[in-house]
Amino acid sequence: MSRTVWFLAAAVLLTGCVTETPAEPTYEFVVVGSGAGGGPLAARLARLGHKVLLLEAGEDVGGKLKYQVPAYHALSTEDEDLAWWFFVQHHQDRAIDETDSKYTPDGILYPRGSALGGSTAVNAMVTVVPPASDWNRLSERTGDGGFRAVKMRAYQDRVAEWLSTENADPTLAMNDRSVFDFFSAAASVLADESDDLGPGTDLPGVDGTAKNLATLSTADLNEAVSAGETEGLFRLPVATKDGRRNGTREFILDTVAAGYDLTVKTGHFVTQVVFDEEQDPPRAIGVIAQAGKGLYKAGLGTPGEASDPVLFRAEKDVILSAGVFNSPQLLMLSGVGERAHLEEMGIDVVAHVPAVGSNLQDRTEVSVVTEMERDSDILKNCRLGRVDMDDPCLLDWMADRPGAYNTNGFLASALVRSDPNRPDADLQIFATPSDARGYYPGYSEDAVREKKFFSWLILKAHSKNNDGVIRLRDKDPFNWPTIQFNAFDEEDPLHDEDLRAVVEGVKLVRRFADRARSQNEGDPLIEVTPGPEVVTDDDIAAWARKEAWGHHACCTNPMGKDDDDRAVVDSHFRVKRTAGLRVMDASVFPEIPGTFIAMPIFMLSERAADVIHEEYRD
Ligand SMILES: Cc1cc2nc3c(=O)[nH]c(=O)nc-3n(C[C@H](O)[C@H](O)[C@H](O)COP(=O)(O)OP(=O)(O)OC[C@H]3O[C@@H](n4cnc5c(N)ncnc54)[C@H](O)[C@@H]3O)c2cc1C
Repeated sequence: MSRTVWFLAAAVLLTGCVTETPAEPTYEFVVVGSGAGGGPLAARLARLGHKVLLLEAGEDVGGKLKYQVPAYHALSTEDEDLAWWFFVQHHQDRAIDETDSKYTPDGILYPRGSALGGSTAVNAMVTVVPPASDWNRLSERTGDGGFRAVKMRAYQDRVAEWLSTENADPTLAMNDRSVFDFFSAAASVLADESDDLGPGTDLPGVDGTAKNLATLSTADLNEAVSAGETEGLFRLPVATKDGRRNGTREFILDTVAAGYDLTVKTGHFVTQVVFDEEQDPPRAIGVIAQAGKGLYKAGLGTPGEASDPVLFRAEKDVILSAGVFNSPQLLMLSGVGERAHLEEMGIDVVAHVPAVGSNLQDRTEVSVVTEMERDSDILKNCRLGRVDMDDPCLLDWMADRPGAYNTNGFLASALVRSDPNRPDADLQIFATPSDARGYYPGYSEDAVREKKFFSWLILKAHSKNNDGVIRLRDKDPFNWPTIQFNAFDEEDPLHDEDLRAVVEGVKLVRRFADRARSQNEGDPLIEVTPGPEVVTDDDIAAWARKEAWGHHACCTNPMGKDDDDRAVVDSHFRVKRTAGLRVMDASVFPEIPGTFIAMPIFMLSERAADVIHEEYRD
């Protein structure tokens, strides 16, 4: 009996009967996961003429308001039809996690999307291209010239063919006195400090404050970043079309509707990759999946009945796009990973690839929350925090009238360097009229319970912490793995480069607030987070160390050269020491790209489609 057949026999014993439905055809490619990585890749491969199966654990929730309405993005992360909740550990020392105000007995909440479109069905839709230096570094790390920024530009254009982006209506902020005062204070501080902050905010002969306010109303951040202009005050482009969420899900559905050979099966949870181990190296020949609603334990609802396991065969490749936590989990469950860990879990080793699940990293994000004297005008009439069909702001959105719900609430952002000597801006600081303090159960309602809060969120790009690790708890494919970021474990938080940059961001935002107070006598603008007791750089670093969060986790199956032991995949997305198996999602970046990760994933996904298509051209 061949080892594949042995494997299937074992799977029958473990998971019940594995069926190969007679009607089930063999596909060229089986893609697992329909998020930012898998969705565009499956669609593009089909458009290039391939027969593709896309398996997605979640359902198509495009009909739900929580999917469509940009302002509901936080609500969507707490909806059982759209979200998975992982609980993670930020620090190696759990005692530090316990001091985080967001800590729960299970750990710290880390939401993800599980639906057609993956996390792009729940994300905040911010769509920002990475600077050229990120692609050029990836090119050096992998030795593949195809990643050079000049080459990747074509993929940015290709993404723009299916992804619409829009900027928030500038009059929303302009018509809100408190919010506008805050923005003009930021514009004036950035203008004054332009020498310190680098050349991007410095235009000789033009009043700096006016210039900054002008870019806020008119400039396109992506054009500016593409042109190498990395600093200034901008709105954040978001993936909406006529004020509705759009992107990965729509690209997939449009591809199917246009008649390309793309089969999409939602509600299908993949438990294992199946290998033919008689081939050297072992060749992936398909995946085993079970149909059912909410089968994974990170789901928020009651799990439904699971179908019998079914084998879906891939003639060419199995492509894992299950995301930063699930792609390494699936590899390990299938026998690809660090030998010692797999043996400890009682899993037969198919390929010893020690870096699987390593190198986990994220951006560091904190917020400075201010209490204003009066409610913000933007949300004054809105009943955000729940879906209420009598909500005047929702009624405006439904009638296609301009308003707050067409936006994700992020009305302005400053792109700056934390240190003038840095080659690129590394802080994206963005503003929202809400009380945004990170993720914990119930956060989406709390953030907008009152309308007099204003948050500047400080997001550190190009973070250096990469000590995080994903490990299996056990062999149960429905159980989520342990997720440890192992960030900020230094004795002295200020020694951490990422935290030092965040400290500069907090101090900059405090200067915005000071300027707003002095320009707008009367509104005391009380800082509630981090608060008046957090004064020195050491205080701020210690506060950020315990309160920081992230939602751009990446890099757990890093790309690299063949002789790089830190790598899981090569520059053609092929998993080392196997054949017929690739990974394409947030996990393949060796370093976290840009300030927002979705656009780099989309671009990489488009490139992956070209690379794979070329390989099988003849
Ligand atoms: C709350 C939140 C806000 C965010 N905001 C932004 C933002 O504004 N801008 C930005 O650039 N980025 C943002 N991100 C990050 C960005 O959306 C993600 O990094 C990106 O979508 C990751 O893409 P991916 O393909 O790796 O995984 P995902 O998009 O997460 O997709 C993975 C998919 O695989 C499916 N899957 C997993 N395991 C299996 C299995 N075993 N079988 C079948 N299917 C499976 C999942 O159901 C999911 O649909 C945000 C993320 C979150 C959670």
